[in-house]
Amino acid sequence: MEKPVEEKEVESPAIGIDLGTTYSCVAVWQHDRVEIITNDQGNRTTPSWVAFTPTQRLIGEAAKNQVAVNPTNTIFDAKRLIGRRFSDETVQNDIKLWPFKVISPPDSDKDKEPKIVVTYKDEEKQFAPEEISSMVLVKMKEIAEAYLGSTVKNAVVTVPAYFNDSQRQATKDAGVIAGLNVLRIINEPTAAAIAYGLDKKVNQSDTCKKHILVFDLGGGTFDVSLVCVEKGVFEVKAISGDTHLGGGDFDNNMVKYFVEEFKKKHNVDIIDNPRALGRLRAAAERAKRTLSSAHETTVDIDCLFEGFDFTSTITRARFEKLNMDLFKKCIDPVDQCLKDANMKIGDVHDVVLVGGSTRIPKIQQLLQDFFEGKELCRSINPDEAVAYGAAVHAAMLTGVSTNTDIVLIDVAPLSLGIKVSTGAMSVLVPRNTTIPTRKNNIFSTADDNQPGILVQVYEGERLIAKENNLLGKFELSDIPPAPAGVPQLDVWFEIDADGILTVSAEDMKTGNKNQITITNQSRLSKEDVDRLLKEAEEYRAEDQKYLRKVKAKNDLENYANSMWEISRDYANKIGVEDKMRMENAILKTIRWLDWNFQLAEASKFQEKLNELRAICEPIIHQASKPEVKPVRAPLRKQLGGWTSMFRFMNFFGFGTDEGA
Ligand code: ADP
Ligand code: MG
Repeated sequence: MEKPVEEKEVESPAIGIDLGTTYSCVAVWQHDRVEIITNDQGNRTTPSWVAFTPTQRLIGEAAKNQVAVNPTNTIFDAKRLIGRRFSDETVQNDIKLWPFKVISPPDSDKDKEPKIVVTYKDEEKQFAPEEISSMVLVKMKEIAEAYLGSTVKNAVVTVPAYFNDSQRQATKDAGVIAGLNVLRIINEPTAAAIAYGLDKKVNQSDTCKKHILVFDLGGGTFDVSLVCVEKGVFEVKAISGDTHLGGGDFDNNMVKYFVEEFKKKHNVDIIDNPRALGRLRAAAERAKRTLSSAHETTVDIDCLFEGFDFTSTITRARFEKLNMDLFKKCIDPVDQCLKDANMKIGDVHDVVLVGGSTRIPKIQQLLQDFFEGKELCRSINPDEAVAYGAAVHAAMLTGVSTNTDIVLIDVAPLSLGIKVSTGAMSVLVPRNTTIPTRKNNIFSTADDNQPGILVQVYEGERLIAKENNLLGKFELSDIPPAPAGVPQLDVWFEIDADGILTVSAEDMKTGNKNQITITNQSRLSKEDVDRLLKEAEEYRAEDQKYLRKVKAKNDLENYANSMWEISRDYANKIGVEDKMRMENAILKTIRWLDWNFQLAEASKFQEKLNELRAICEPIIHQASKPEVKPVRAPLRKQLGGWTSMFRFMNFFGFGTDEGA
């Protein structure tokens, strides 16, 4: 019997989800436009909170509302943990501030995943951060399903631009646990720029290039990005910000102020009462939101503490005074971002406001002043812009939207490369390269008959590889015996549209290949990235000096080695006395090298090289008159092609893990 046509499942459109640290938002492309979907409470954003009680699990508003009575089992900020190691410095700092418990599982040999510990239905349970995030995603999926009236499968999910591969992968995993097919992970500022681009009809027909500064001030994080839009191509040029600055801090300052008010009025301190503080905090957040549109508001809480009610009127001016230092802190990262992108204020075409806290008039004013009075873009609702762009992108990927002329480009936040035998970082993907990308370079061996190479992948700006962040390593073995510098080893770096890195190496002679997909990547926070950039700048001169020294040392060592071989090969052409003189000089040099490598400067190595040359060169010259038989191949390579080889190829040491 044939199935009736009606039973055919309706295919739901793909949704866009802004999975925020404090609030999440879901949107869908329908009827040629974006709809921001409201939750069951009628709100367009939903707290990214999950709570566990003796009887049930709560997500969103329901979870946030009961935090005062259940602080240890109410989880927020899971996004700060996702894809990070327990030992990560930012994780350790955050743990101190959270009322809920985060542990490193005792049976885990890898010290990787932090676990969140809660009591749920009277039993102790542990959850990975991506499991908590998946619960928020399930909630967002359900909000969309209730609105669309059908099951939702596909979604585009956004992450901060500075999220590394591990954090992106873990976010993707959260989507999978939530039963979603994550079509693409895209950067939040890119999503906001897409929303903005549509707004202004920036597409392929426009030839002009636009620089958009995305100013995203949310609940607890502050991200500034410079996005370039040209012919429908979006590119994140630079990022900056503060990982612990946002609406929550403004709420805190209000709470402190109200606590003092309460003390003055009733002569009691509520600072140690979590329940009262929780209620005060919720009221403060509401008042703060009101003050974005009104000049004054009243907080009214019945029976806040010891039978006393609390009533207080707060003006916008007072609110601004309480937070002025924090507001001012929002401007420096904008300056830094422009500097990183090598741009001036006048180069920015549009300033886009993203994140709920950018609704605060004073912040808008400070930003506008910084941009010398330029009008800010307010046409996109700031807490919805990211989900809006994600929904547009989801529609494009599923062929629903006709607006297919947008291409997404993001950037690698730090340079990626490998360590070569001098210890230097050989960069294949420079910082701020747009992704997806594929880059390669040919490398070779450093020693004769070297059987394999160790490809060590690093991320960072220091010139010395080991000062950077080691992402992973693998070996390429079974290289057929050959003189140093002869094997051609093709190394590829490939970063896909989700920002996930695959590094491969192939011996071009044998076709032998190995590769690594780096899933446990760096886990670098934006703070780390900023710190590394600063350090790289500070140490640049020192690193250069060190690498010059290694190069000078290698030059000397190589010269000494090749002269040793020549003294053997030319034995019958060089007089016994000259041979002795040459060999003594070489041995003296090698001994000097053994003792002085750590201490000597590059110039000292060069001096020694000149000394050795002064002895060897005349002897060789004498011996290599035309009638002398030609030197054997590897020697010729080292003598003749050596410098140019060095210029065009990079050399690997094998197993030089701890070496320079
Ligand atoms: P996330 O940081 O998770 O991306 P949002 O961008 O939605 O979250 O920002 C949430 C923050 O914005 C919260 O601190 C919230 O109190 C604040 N916020 C929301 N609306 C307003 C408003 N009208 N005025 C001031 N702050 C607001
Ligand atoms: Mg956000």
